[in-house]
Amino acid sequence: MKQPVMKKRIMKNKAVKAPRASKDNNHGILRDFFLGFIKIHTLHHAMKEDVYGLWLIEELNEHGYDLSPGTLYPILHKLEEDGLLTSYSEVVEGKVRKYYQTTPKGAHALERLREKIIELVKEVV
Ligand SMILES: [Zn+2]
Repeated sequence: MKQPVMKKRIMKNKAVKAPRASKDNNHGILRDFFLGFIKIHTLHHAMKEDVYGLWLIEELNEHGYDLSPGTLYPILHKLEEDGLLTSYSEVVEGKVRKYYQTTPKGAHALERLREKIIELVKEVV
């Protein structure tokens, strides 16, 4: 089993609202695109280490996504339902925390997405 992510980043920035992220992130016309990017980020990180919701929110925050739990958790549940993520729960400081890992199916999907990302970047950027 992979090691769970370190806690340090959680301490750094408890507030989830990121001033530098635009409001468009969650409610604007780009929302559908961002949801796809967020899924890719999630598969990528959950492949490297076990991740949990709040950690992901802060990680994505650093990439400029202003994400609420109400947006992220349904994404995580959908990825798990689709067999791309798997999860387990652990009690951390008296609270249950759900960790996610990318499954082999998720890793395969990510591999295919990576090819598409490279192609897209070549074309668009
Ligand atoms: Zn990331």
